Amino acid sequence: MSKRKHTAAPGSLQAKQEALKALTRVMAQRVELDVVPVFEVSLRQSIRALGASMACLHLEDKPRQALNLVHAERMSPRWRQRWRRLSLKGKTPPARVHTRGKPLELIGSAAPGQLSAVATVPIVGAEVPLGTLSLLWTGPQPSPDPDRLDFLEAVAHMVALAIEHAGLISELIDRLNELRMLKEQEAQRSRELTRLNRQLEEVNRRLEELSITDELTGLYNRRHFLERLHHEIDRSRRLGHPLCLIMADLDHFKSINDTLGHQGGDLALIRFAGWLRGGVRRIDLVGRYGGEEFVVLLVDCALEQGATVAEKLRRMVKERSQAPPFDALGGFTVSMGLAALREGMDADRLIAAADQALYQAKRQGRDRVIVATSLE
Ligand code: GH3
Ligand code: MG
Ligand code: MG
Repeated sequence: MSKRKHTAAPGSLQAKQEALKALTRVMAQRVELDVVPVFEVSLRQSIRALGASMACLHLEDKPRQALNLVHAERMSPRWRQRWRRLSLKGKTPPARVHTRGKPLELIGSAAPGQLSAVATVPIVGAEVPLGTLSLLWTGPQPSPDPDRLDFLEAVAHMVALAIEHAGLISELIDRLNELRMLKEQEAQRSRELTRLNRQLEEVNRRLEELSITDELTGLYNRRHFLERLHHEIDRSRRLGHPLCLIMADLDHFKSINDTLGHQGGDLALIRFAGWLRGGVRRIDLVGRYGGEEFVVLLVDCALEQGATVAEKLRRMVKERSQAPPFDALGGFTVSMGLAALREGMDADRLIAAADQALYQAKRQGRDRVIVATSLE
């Protein structure tokens, strides 16, 4: 990979130093997932530094009990084929070096085939034999060199580091992928949870709505009306605003039920509720107190205005109930009792005052509004 020109003579110390330097440079820059660049530079630099003809790298193939040729530089097709896979039980230099864990140099007649020399060193990573690195000479026999195997062992050591490093990196990448998948699953779950929470909120909202409204008319039920009444009384005391309460009871309601049936009675209640709700301001509270009894709280409203509102409502009921199906019984009417919140009054006393006025309205002949103060 290095484009630097090498001037040192093969086998010289300088040549070896240059080779190791080149390899270190590649290691520093290129050691990643891909170890091939390191293989390439290791073999090329070794050939150059030691004046060899060919170089190859074998890695152990455990299941096959063999060494596989994983990288070769300048290998002739014949040698490439011959050393493609080497049995660990065989006598080839790589097999012997791998099983014994010691470097080996065969020169002259000791070298296999027509080679003039072979030098093989083990590649050992974390005390585990990974494979071998071999240099082959075909030309004239190389001169003796006591440092040759040391040099090759240094190169093999770096190759081992690169292989281990790549292994660690790919393990790391596997872990990161796992982590990413877990995070995605978590995100998915949290999206699901958010969705469920929204559903729950919606259900809770509906439940809350149901718990405060009267099923038939959709008005506030008695419990919720009383709750709000207490709240509004506090508020009016704080702000010094007047408050009026209307108690309304349909007249002769039993006869509606008797004439039009229970469903007809229900319809009268629904209609009446709608007229009440539509006849007052949004800030006023309208509730069904029970049966055919209703309550209206007129917020920030003095007694005189309240009487006007109640009278308007009473007339509205009388008129609108002339429409079918209530025309059959000549429509229906409502009696109302009106009371204003006065000094020292609590919710119960306000209701009692309005109720008493209502009772008076019934007694005086129904279809009328009686104002509580007019009793005193
Ligand atoms: P008054 O003029 O004195 O108020 O006479 P009334 O017949 O209206 O009074 P009473 O309180 O005696 O009768 C109320 C009737 O209302 C009795 C009950 O059957 C009926 N009622 C109560 N709740 C409902 C309801 O939800 N639907 C229907 N259809 N009728 C109801
Ligand atoms: Mg009634
Ligand atoms: Mg009644």
